[in-house]
Amino acid sequence: MSPRGRALLPSGLRGRILVAVALTTTLTMMLLSWGMLYSWRASLLQQEETNALAISRAFSVAVVDALIFADQDLYQSEGFLDNYVRMFMEENPRLRAVTILEPGGRVAARSWESRRPPWISGDLDQIMAVNIPYTAITRGQDGDWLLETLLPLRTGDRRWGMLVMDLEADSIRHQIRHSFVQLALFSISVTSILLLLLWLMLSRILHSLGMLVSAMDAVDFSAAGGPTFPVRHDEIGLLFRRFQHMKNRLDQSRADVLTAQKQVWHAERLAAIGRLASGLAHEINNPINGVRNCIYAIREDLDNKEQTVEYLGMMDEGLTSASAVLTKLLGFARKQQSGSGPVQLNEAVESVTRLVHFNLERSQVRLMTDLDPQLPRVVIDAQLVQEVIMNLVLNANDASAPGGVITVQTRQQDGQVVMVVRDEGHGISEANLQRIFDPFFTTKEPGEGTGLGLSICQSIVEAAGGTLAVESSPGKGSAFSMRLPLPPLPPAPDGRTPAP
Ligand code: ADP
Repeated sequence: MSPRGRALLPSGLRGRILVAVALTTTLTMMLLSWGMLYSWRASLLQQEETNALAISRAFSVAVVDALIFADQDLYQSEGFLDNYVRMFMEENPRLRAVTILEPGGRVAARSWESRRPPWISGDLDQIMAVNIPYTAITRGQDGDWLLETLLPLRTGDRRWGMLVMDLEADSIRHQIRHSFVQLALFSISVTSILLLLLWLMLSRILHSLGMLVSAMDAVDFSAAGGPTFPVRHDEIGLLFRRFQHMKNRLDQSRADVLTAQKQVWHAERLAAIGRLASGLAHEINNPINGVRNCIYAIREDLDNKEQTVEYLGMMDEGLTSASAVLTKLLGFARKQQSGSGPVQLNEAVESVTRLVHFNLERSQVRLMTDLDPQLPRVVIDAQLVQEVIMNLVLNANDASAPGGVITVQTRQQDGQVVMVVRDEGHGISEANLQRIFDPFFTTKEPGEGTGLGLSICQSIVEAAGGTLAVESSPGKGSAFSMRLPLPPLPPAPDGRTPAP
């Protein structure tokens, strides 16, 4: 269909169906009416023609008799025939004109109204050529319908002439017109009732579909449960049930995905602990070695009480620091109940810095912080945001060469809290830059990287309404920026929300 044609069609389903049905019904009714009218008109005319011929034949008997008598010079045919015609016309009020023609075309008798030759001489040859009874509908001078019969007058092989009769047929025209009006009215009524019923049905269906659409719009896909629909046993009801079923399946899949996500996150956290452990081993080993040395020294000089007391204090200190390191590590490894609350990002950075300190020392990489003391709090899970910072810093450490510097900077910018972890490491190639947030993408040796760190970081940050982006120049270093939205300000005591 051309765009113009399409523009003419109503855009709604109801309008389109109504237009299509209206066109089809109108066309069908028109064809039906025309067919009915045509066959009815044909049978009406046939009946009228039969009647007209019967009248003609009845009259022709008397006319032929008169002509035979006249032929035998028994009497003057003209006056006699005129009389016949007049009497016959009086008996048949529907007769408009009667003409009796002799074989040569001369008028033997005619009624006054007769419009036959000599006035219309052109038709005469044709009329006289007619061999069998003939009828036709013609129009009179005032436009009326006339049923004309031509009846050859003959006895055996002898032709006596022609009887031409015009019968009033305007009543047929009126009957046909009347029937046409009735059929048209009937068609219009049928079409209107059909369209009205269709409109009501479509309204009902569309109302139900509208309900389904509003329910679909209103469904909170992030929450379990779904809308309740009225019970129906038709196709619309089936649609309702299917939608409800789909929502239940979606809830189930969402629950499965969440469980799987939690498992992956926990696995990634354990992997991070593995990376931390190599650095922390020193921190635990050193106090243990110190304690061992103290025990050795005490054993060597058991009587030296002063030294024993001093060494016991040192042992206590060493064990306390080893235990503190383990507590930190376990705290990070433990699956915590997630919960978002206002978090001071600077504190999270500092706590991670303390945890990764030993890893950086081992790699001879320096960590510098540039933290905005006025940084507002952000709404995010404290445990998860630490995991993000830890991943970014450990990645920066992995990418840095000995002597490199990592900077963690926090600031408030454009109504957001921004944290940037910048390193001077080997950077990321253009091709890899597109893929580093993909799960399981890693350039590290097997056993050293899972490829999950950045994808998990990204989902944590996005779940808190923020973004995680990267800029990198191969050979020069990379900068990962985490942006988090500021929490909405509490309403002022007068009920108005203060401007940020
Ligand atoms: P993993 O560290 O286990 O490989 P990540 O998702 O944390 O998984 O990182 C994916 C990849 O991104 C890394 O393998 C590395 O190639 C690249 N990458 C991440 N951070 C940096 C960085 N600071 N410098 C250079 N490359 C990095």
